[in-house]
Amino acid sequence: MIRKRQPAQPETTWTRRGWVSAAAAGLVGSTLATPGGWAAEQAPVGTRASPLPLTEFEPKSMLHVTETHVPRARFPVIDFHTHVSPRPNARRPSVPPAELVRVMDTVNLHTMVNLTGGSGDQLRAALAAFDRAFPRRFLTMTEPTWTRASEAGYSTWQADEIKTAKTAGAVGLKVLKTLGLYLREGGPKGPLVHVDDARFDPMWEACGGLGLPVAMHVGDPEAFFLPIDRFNERYEELNAHPDWSFHGRDFPAFRDILTARDRVFARHPKTTFVALHVGHWAENLQAVGEMLDRFPNVNVEIGARIGELGRQPRTAARFFDRYQDRIMFGTDAVPLGIETPQQVFGEDLYRIYYRFLETEDEYFDYAPARVPPQGRWRIYGLGLTDQILRKVYHENAERILGVTLVGA
Ligand SMILES: [Zn+2]
Repeated sequence: MIRKRQPAQPETTWTRRGWVSAAAAGLVGSTLATPGGWAAEQAPVGTRASPLPLTEFEPKSMLHVTETHVPRARFPVIDFHTHVSPRPNARRPSVPPAELVRVMDTVNLHTMVNLTGGSGDQLRAALAAFDRAFPRRFLTMTEPTWTRASEAGYSTWQADEIKTAKTAGAVGLKVLKTLGLYLREGGPKGPLVHVDDARFDPMWEACGGLGLPVAMHVGDPEAFFLPIDRFNERYEELNAHPDWSFHGRDFPAFRDILTARDRVFARHPKTTFVALHVGHWAENLQAVGEMLDRFPNVNVEIGARIGELGRQPRTAARFFDRYQDRIMFGTDAVPLGIETPQQVFGEDLYRIYYRFLETEDEYFDYAPARVPPQGRWRIYGLGLTDQILRKVYHENAERILGVTLVGA
């Protein structure tokens, strides 16, 4: 409740800055300048006496800076990281591909790579409804059948399944964070299966032999492996979704997961990997750069990480310059959903990414949301050159997928 009080001085609005400078100038007795002391007693009109819950804080930026609207990408775009085909037991309904194409045409999005095409009948249905119904607009990847991972003979069976999927039309293999964080030996009570478990070696090798890139999501934001406390920069998100936390219990440490993943990269140099979400360490581009230097068979994409890249614009611009042949555009787009607004497919989502990559605008929202959903900060545009934009928007993806899409 706001209680009206007499102003400290008639006709004077006391701001915090005014109070601090008055205190510094000796106008106010120092004994009064204590929390809950004079300042609280004399709270000026229009302020709250009680603390403001973080969830209610929606500061409007007072910066008067350039706002560039980028309705269409400067060059045709391949979104390397989307999830658009129907999933079994999915909580959210899928959107008919014709509706997706309408939005794609509006924002100059040429192709969506649909990573989670599943396997077997699910994969064949996705390929028919998306890839074949709309040639060159959708490409679909297959996924391992984790439910059989503890069965005898799984290794060779799974490698053969990759061949079958390629014949059906799949353009790559997608690995969700299931591997390393959910998949357990023999059922839900068993130990976690390690990312570099040897039973998957034939699968990684098969991908290399067949020319299928592996899109790999291993780990999650670094903060998801830390305690959910007031020091955690993703506190609000984790507090709302405690099941997203991988802190404690028998979860591996963040760095151990990445190290296990790196052993897979090293063991399969002829297989092309795409480490999604900026190699899962957008918070540490120095480390991602060192990883890319060590493994020429690895590339990255930027899905759902412009909130990280855009708050370190100078480091990120250097990263794009140095690794311009190995970074791909991606959004992690899903057709519907309110829990992760930074991923909801639509014109607004793409326009934010384009603004980030193409302009030098300052301090703008990284997601179409009332409150920044992955942390209360804003981002700065990179203003990439045309040469880098072409590579990131479509040339790198075409090379890695081994297809010509744009202008074919
Ligand atoms: Zn994804």
